[in-house]
Amino acid sequence: GLPEVPVRPIAERRVSRRIQVGPVAVGGGAPVSVQSMTTTRTSDIGATLQQIAELTASGCQIVRVACPTQDDADALPVIARKSQIPVIADIHFQPKYVFAAIEAGCAAVRVNPGNIKQFDDQVREIAKAARDHGTPIRIGVNAGSLDRRLLQKYGRATPEALAESALWEASLFEEHDFRDIKISVKHNDPVVMVEAYRQLAAQCDYPLHLGVTEAGPAFQGTIKSAVAFGALLSQGIGDTIRVSLSAPPVEEIKVGIQILQSLGLRERRLEIVSCPSCGRAQVDVYKLAEEVTAGLEGMEVPLRVAVMGCVVNGPGEAREADLGVASGNGKGQIFVKGEVVKTVPESKIVETLIEEAMRIAEQMEKDGASG
Ligand code: SF4
Repeated sequence: GLPEVPVRPIAERRVSRRIQVGPVAVGGGAPVSVQSMTTTRTSDIGATLQQIAELTASGCQIVRVACPTQDDADALPVIARKSQIPVIADIHFQPKYVFAAIEAGCAAVRVNPGNIKQFDDQVREIAKAARDHGTPIRIGVNAGSLDRRLLQKYGRATPEALAESALWEASLFEEHDFRDIKISVKHNDPVVMVEAYRQLAAQCDYPLHLGVTEAGPAFQGTIKSAVAFGALLSQGIGDTIRVSLSAPPVEEIKVGIQILQSLGLRERRLEIVSCPSCGRAQVDVYKLAEEVTAGLEGMEVPLRVAVMGCVVNGPGEAREADLGVASGNGKGQIFVKGEVVKTVPESKIVETLIEEAMRIAEQMEKDGASG
């Protein structure tokens, strides 16, 4: 289902027009959605649908598939029909695949402005087909494939160049009265990327798809994306996000969801509040935190679980959480809503926390169902 409305948003959201990517609303105050892109050959329908199923299970709301060949275009109707989440066809060069993707029932089509120019005269037809099918277009500007004219004008892919490129491409569609558009202006440098989106946000009301392109391997890419999206979303800018990692796409979804939860833009599910450990620790906090995280993975209810290494700050933090443990003397004091409910030997801490968490979760679900 759709993510919950934030309790206390980090910022007023920028006012953007709303588009519909299949059943998922993007912009116009809709919750920020999380998307990813498949890594399979799109023409391999089975593998692509399998990956889409995994992405769906991990919380992905919109999925993009590359469409570089006719075989890929031929696979789109089945993929679009069988996918549980809306499918966006990603097309760089060939206008004929844009038409194919629209005909195939894709929820949206991504085109690259650096290349779209070659089919200027076809923009009218694309706009018409997209309008007839109610298919929005994502204009995806990428530093690596910036329009040559703008590269010459600015010397390199500056924020101004990225924003101008996107707005110019949007204007080609606007000429045909087509505004069912969302925009991205990606760069691998978060500083350039943030500035490009800021400029773009100030100059149009299109919903924005945030992304740091070629962000890198998981660790670096996670940080780059978190910093860049955090900077923008904390100013209300951004309607849908894609974390790009040189890692399996499911990892991108986990990071994306965590970024939104950290910003309070999505209800927190399971949150582990664990201490960094210090010289006072009486238990291996890293190991305990990891075991508790693994034991509770996939829990659907919002639960704050405190894992504290000693009884100095432990009880205080544990009291703030739904559930917690403070360790000392080879034992763990288990807290539920601030009360010590049990003291168990260290070897039983993990299983006791998991038991208690399940019990609280069941209670929350019951309360939710009856309320
Ligand atoms: Fe150190 Fe205890 Fe604080 Fe953990 S809870 S950081 S062990 S003082």
